[in-house]
Amino acid sequence: MSEGYFDIAIVGGGAAGLMAGLFAARSGRSTVLLEGSPQCGLKILVSGGGRCNVLPSVYDESDYFTLGSRNVVRRLFRTWSLDRVTAFFTDDLGVELTIEPETGKVFPRSQKAKEVRDALVAAFAAAGGTLHCGWRVTSLERDADRFRVSSLGGGAITASRVILATGGQSLPRTGSDGVGYSFAKRLGHTTVETYPALVPLTTNDEALRGLTGIALPVRWRAELQSRPVEERVRELLFTHRGFSGPAMLDASHWSVRDHARLTVGWNAISRDDWLRRLGEHSKKDCRSVVADALPRRLAEILCERAGVPAACTPSHLTRDVRERLLDHLTEFELPVTGSVGYRVAEVTGGGVPIGELHPSTLESRCTPGAYLCGEIVDLIGRIGGYNFLWAWVTGKLAGESAARSLTASQKRPKSG
Ligand SMILES: Cc1cc2nc3c(=O)[nH]c(=O)nc-3n(C[C@H](O)[C@H](O)[C@H](O)COP(=O)(O)OP(=O)(O)OC[C@H]3O[C@@H](n4cnc5c(N)ncnc54)[C@H](O)[C@@H]3O)c2cc1C
Repeated sequence: MSEGYFDIAIVGGGAAGLMAGLFAARSGRSTVLLEGSPQCGLKILVSGGGRCNVLPSVYDESDYFTLGSRNVVRRLFRTWSLDRVTAFFTDDLGVELTIEPETGKVFPRSQKAKEVRDALVAAFAAAGGTLHCGWRVTSLERDADRFRVSSLGGGAITASRVILATGGQSLPRTGSDGVGYSFAKRLGHTTVETYPALVPLTTNDEALRGLTGIALPVRWRAELQSRPVEERVRELLFTHRGFSGPAMLDASHWSVRDHARLTVGWNAISRDDWLRRLGEHSKKDCRSVVADALPRRLAEILCERAGVPAACTPSHLTRDVRERLLDHLTEFELPVTGSVGYRVAEVTGGGVPIGELHPSTLESRCTPGAYLCGEIVDLIGRIGGYNFLWAWVTGKLAGESAARSLTASQKRPKSG
């Protein structure tokens, strides 16, 4: 049971909350971090397969999705450049980092997510912050010029500033179950409809599900009303339920939110290149030519669906069948039925609109004195450390802004 007054209370001790707490405490303000789970940063621990892809090595705004203003997003990222965030982890927290050459993802050199989480917790404690784990917030009320935060266990805390860093609702077993949106609503905010993102997609196509375990690069494209909205080359993994791998996790956002048509070009081989390959092998049967470049079982499914007769050589293909085969090889429409949902999703799309926050401080426009940061805000990034970058940058900004606002207003009620 905890009672008491703090200058700043942070609800949620994930990536964004830890960073907010650290910078609030370093500003000399009494700061309490309230985490519902028995330990904080559980999502950091499971991230990157336990290795924590802590940052990307490069980024631009096109790596993020939001219905909010791109200018505001740019402005927010400018508050803490990627170089400085990287230096913070290495020089300040002492977490040595390394770049994975094939992907450009940044990991701790130790390859241990725990090192990142523990370094943040230790820095927060060293800055004088108070951490309450197992302190599940059940209500957040504005009470005159203070906030009153109550917990499931009957604890209550008052604070002059509150920072909402409760994350989204993906992987709820880590403690982020979406309850934070109701606190945001209580503070007067709306929410952009939420949806599971960076999530494996499902299909009821038995033949494709039978390819479980096969992974290959694809050029994927998302189309809305026949208009391409995004196209990238990454790896697709067939699973027993459908499609996963970095390509599909990135593409899932378009499919789940907008029901976009998703097509793939297998192995990212162009139409012209396939034409050349087929032309080079006038005596070999088509299925073997395709199987030279693709996994055999996939090659057979594609040829069969394109209507390529067994043992037919490229020169004996009718024009129609050849065109259909080229379509299946370069623009195969994935028969997606849905996603595996929040239980597995890496992030939650939607959330509190960026426009409801002051762009230079992340203070709520609806309730002065409240700040929001991290995944609760309507913005998600691609796979590759982009989501943590958002959590670090917005966490720091919210923590510093909350502390600065107290200094500015000279409001510092006595503890107790
Ligand atoms: C499996 C997986 C792997 C991932 N890997 C990566 C990766 O390698 N790189 C990357 O950039 N991103 C990765 N992500 C995404 C990244 O983890 C999130 O974007 C990031 O953690 C969001 O930070 P956050 O602090 O906003 O929210 P969270 O990390 O979700 O933290 C919110 C915290 O608030 C707490 N909380 C919620 N409600 C309450 C309440 N009522 N009272 C008290 N506490 C509460 C939760 O317990 C939680 O600790 C991964 C996600 C998953 C699920």
